[in-house]
Amino acid sequence: MKLWRQWRMNVSPTARMLIATVALCGIATIAAVVILLNASLSAIAAKSDEMDGHRSNDTAQAAAQALLTHMTQKTTDNAQWDDAVDELYRDSVDTAWLQRTWGVTALDKRTYDGVFVLDENRRILWGRFRGQAFTGTDARMFGSGFAALVAAHPGQLASGETAVSGFSLTRYGPAVVSISLVRPVEHPLSGAGTMRRYLVMTRHFTPGLVQGLGTAFRLDHLRAAPAADRHIPFLNLTGADGRVVAHLTWKPRLSGALAARAAAPRIQQITWLISVLVLVFVGVSGYALHRLAQSEATAKRFALTDNLSGLPNRRALFEHLQSEGKKHKARMQTVVFIDLDGFKDVNDIYGHNTGDKLIMIVAAALKKYLPEKGMLARMGGDEFALLIAGHDGPAKAQGFAEAALAFVGAPIRIGDRSVQIGASIGIAISTLKACTSHELFRRADLAMYHSKATGKGRITHYDAELDAARQHKQAVEQGIRKGLQNGEFDVVYQPIVDARTQRVTSVEALVRWPGRPEGPLPPDQFIDIAETSGLIHEIGQFVLRKACADLKAVPDLRLSVNISPAQFRDPEFERKVDAVIDETGFPVDRLELEVTEGYLIENPDRAIAAVANLKARGVSFALDDFGTGYSSIGYLRRFNFDRIKIDKSLAGRIDRDPQAAALVAGTVNIAAALKMLVTAEGVETEEHVRLLRLAGCNTLQGYYFSRPKALRDVLAMLEQNGKRSVA
Ligand code: C2E
Ligand code: CA
Ligand code: CA
Repeated sequence: MKLWRQWRMNVSPTARMLIATVALCGIATIAAVVILLNASLSAIAAKSDEMDGHRSNDTAQAAAQALLTHMTQKTTDNAQWDDAVDELYRDSVDTAWLQRTWGVTALDKRTYDGVFVLDENRRILWGRFRGQAFTGTDARMFGSGFAALVAAHPGQLASGETAVSGFSLTRYGPAVVSISLVRPVEHPLSGAGTMRRYLVMTRHFTPGLVQGLGTAFRLDHLRAAPAADRHIPFLNLTGADGRVVAHLTWKPRLSGALAARAAAPRIQQITWLISVLVLVFVGVSGYALHRLAQSEATAKRFALTDNLSGLPNRRALFEHLQSEGKKHKARMQTVVFIDLDGFKDVNDIYGHNTGDKLIMIVAAALKKYLPEKGMLARMGGDEFALLIAGHDGPAKAQGFAEAALAFVGAPIRIGDRSVQIGASIGIAISTLKACTSHELFRRADLAMYHSKATGKGRITHYDAELDAARQHKQAVEQGIRKGLQNGEFDVVYQPIVDARTQRVTSVEALVRWPGRPEGPLPPDQFIDIAETSGLIHEIGQFVLRKACADLKAVPDLRLSVNISPAQFRDPEFERKVDAVIDETGFPVDRLELEVTEGYLIENPDRAIAAVANLKARGVSFALDDFGTGYSSIGYLRRFNFDRIKIDKSLAGRIDRDPQAAALVAGTVNIAAALKMLVTAEGVETEEHVRLLRLAGCNTLQGYYFSRPKALRDVLAMLEQNGKRSVA
């Protein structure tokens, strides 16, 4: 039973069916052979018996005929006899002669049992029956068969050429009766007048007679029976009057049956032989199929297993979910997607060996947290997924995700070193009636991606808003692409003033999207999207080119342009900036690029190189949004910025937040120490201006002085203030 269950587990249903089919075919073949052999044997036997029946019937007929012929012969011989003519054609017959001649012979039962002499009126003149004298005269004692026989052969009786014989039921029972005219041998009867003498001989059916006939004609158990038995062959012996005198019956030889019986052992041997051959064939092919199925099962297992972690792979998980979908459409399915954060760094820094070990360690740990009936798979790279069905699935999945996050978030020992990674996790829950298995995975993936995009090391549950956000993102992306082609973007400029003189020294170029068909979208709602989709390169290039072109002719005015982290990542970035400077002829020493610290921290080497390359050409750099991230003095030194821009969230609160005020003061001190200039953003009130100037900021930017303006308005403003003083 256990073996059977194991076999069922290992062998696919298709292979099982094949094996069963082969076995069934084998059994059917054996059965067919047995049935066919026996059927054809009995058909041959039956046919042969039937032919035998016909033949034995012919034989019986021949026997009856022989009986008649024999009696005819006998009677003819006795009746055509000159001595008999002399003795019988007298008025009174000599009974002594008759007794001597035929009377004794009548005792001989094997030839005839009765002999009679009849006159022309067919009256019995003399007779002996079974050795006894016969006293009657009436020929009716020979039965109606005899009468009909006589009536049927008038000519033959008249000439006496031969005797006539037939069957008749005499007073003593069924018999062969023969009659012949007594006449000379050589010539017909003459000179007898009307006198006629007939010799009648009878032979009644006795068991001895019939048996003898049977022996002579090889008919077993030949009998004369008063009634026929339908089940054994019989022959009616009919008299000339058409009445059945007796039935001859005999036992059928049944040579067919005999032959069949004789052949039976051979047939049995053949059956056995064929059965053994078929069983051997079934056994061999069944075994071959079993082996094939096993190797197929092994191959399948191999194809569905991730060989590094030993966990099921992506395909296995999909197949499992798909089969769940076919069987239990209404069952709740929960998918947890885990993507390791920082795995790539471990790989890059410590090598693939360590990376592989890390995967194995994480896989083993996740296996420990695996809830009952859950399926854990490695989806490839540094991705894992848990699939769990049922209503308690979401709770179990949450527990698993938290445990996984805690394990992965803690330092992990690999050999003698310790690595720090993390995980971004997404969870999606649905029945497979409500969404397809692919959709379920996509949702878990999207949720995971959201975890990654919003700070990593967290768990996100899928909800429709994530999709809405994604759709919005895609729509904006599409819009930017079209907008760039259709010239929907524009650049505005926000003046930056000297803190002491309050004269405009510089402007910051800020991108706008006024031509957007759905209505304008502020930059902080599309810059991020442009960054993740790579469109920022084109936008950044557009802003830089336009701003340089716009302001090239305004002497002494500095220009600040925002540069996205993604632009820094582009190895072509410096070349592109160069190209714009060459193209527009904008004086390099008036150009300042503003960068935020995020990317600088992520990829310091590349950023240092880019900054250094551009600084070497004369471009200045400002660290934007200072105070929102976690810049260290070390970074500021390494990058050698020309300026720090204190973020409006800090500068704008200087009047009401002592901590902000202290931070601003500290920033100014550090900048001074590092020989950097300081610009304060978000200056909205006179009080801001006063405090920030007091704090030591060099330049100020904010609505207090001016909102970002179209080029025309900025130029007009500069014109109006002649000396470029705003206040
Ligand atoms: P940012 O670089 O910090 O730009 C300054 C933002 O502060 C601008 O918003 C400006 O309008 C706003 N601002 C100026 N003065 C005040 C004030 O007194 N009070 C307040 N509350 N806000 C003030 P904007 O133009 O909406 O730009 C938002 C952000 O979008 C920018 O922040 C910058 O990070 C990004 N951005 C804008 N244009 C570009 C661009 O051409 N390229 C790149 N890469 N990013 C850009
Ligand atoms: Ca800026
Ligand atoms: Ca800023």
